[in-house]
Amino acid sequence: MSANGIHHVTAIAGPARRNLDFYTRVLGLRLVKKTVNFDDPETYHLYYGDEFGRPGTILTFFPWEHVAPGRIGVGETSETAFKVPLSSIGWWTHRFVAEGVAHEAPTKVFGETVLPFRDPDGMHLALIGVTDPPRLAWPEGGISAEHAILGFHGVTLMLRDVAPTGAILSDIFGFAEIGREGSLLRFDSGAAQGGIVQLRGVGDFLQGRPGGGSVHHVAFRAADDAAQAGMVERLAAGHGVVTTEQKDRSYFRSVYFREPGGVLFEIATDIPGFSVDEAPDALGRALKLPLGLEPRRAQIKAALPEIA
Ligand code: ZN
Repeated sequence: MSANGIHHVTAIAGPARRNLDFYTRVLGLRLVKKTVNFDDPETYHLYYGDEFGRPGTILTFFPWEHVAPGRIGVGETSETAFKVPLSSIGWWTHRFVAEGVAHEAPTKVFGETVLPFRDPDGMHLALIGVTDPPRLAWPEGGISAEHAILGFHGVTLMLRDVAPTGAILSDIFGFAEIGREGSLLRFDSGAAQGGIVQLRGVGDFLQGRPGGGSVHHVAFRAADDAAQAGMVERLAAGHGVVTTEQKDRSYFRSVYFREPGGVLFEIATDIPGFSVDEAPDALGRALKLPLGLEPRRAQIKAALPEIA
């Protein structure tokens, strides 16, 4: 079965309300889960994606009201890109002007049209024009199928040396190197959404600094626990990389490791998915907590800012 590519990307944001408005109203994604950071339960963990939160469409945030801005540099994700229909790049440029979204003129990378833009925290994002069949990402998102975001295109990682990271993408996650353009190396996993990882080799450059607008980690897909266990074994045997113990994230089960270039990677199972604790048509409406945190619901709710 073809469960490969990116599962989700998790980033750090400023105020939750501003983050929610940008991703749901301006970009038209669905809030598929409103929960808390399991390791820091007085902070939200907001998940945006397509109608069902399919792997390869999910961008998640830890919003902190007063976060200091991050700085992109070595050992970090330097761009997170979504797919949109190629014919709607002009429509999106117009929307960004109308909404006051910081953006640059479209450019070409690997022959594709790329519209770089920033979210309100300065996170580096891009829309990439593709000729995939149009699909309604989220019927209630307010953006028609003609223009809707079609999940992730992929991420770009900024690295001192691309080879060890490239080896892990190929050996563990089933990516193949498909091209080079300047300092940019492109890997493709063949997945319809979130199938691309680009590595930008920059040599001695400033280290990234985590903060608002920076990506916390990139999660790759494993179909199930057995597939994940196989990856963990191959990482140890072939790359001398040891992962964390498996952690239950309610909607997927995860292990984490820092890849040789310094980027935090996660391996997340496709199962059980976001409808495990609320019906598909009600995703994202209620504050969901893992069972262990339910006894503290009142206290947690009081500490979280009001967002909707
Ligand atoms: Zn994650």
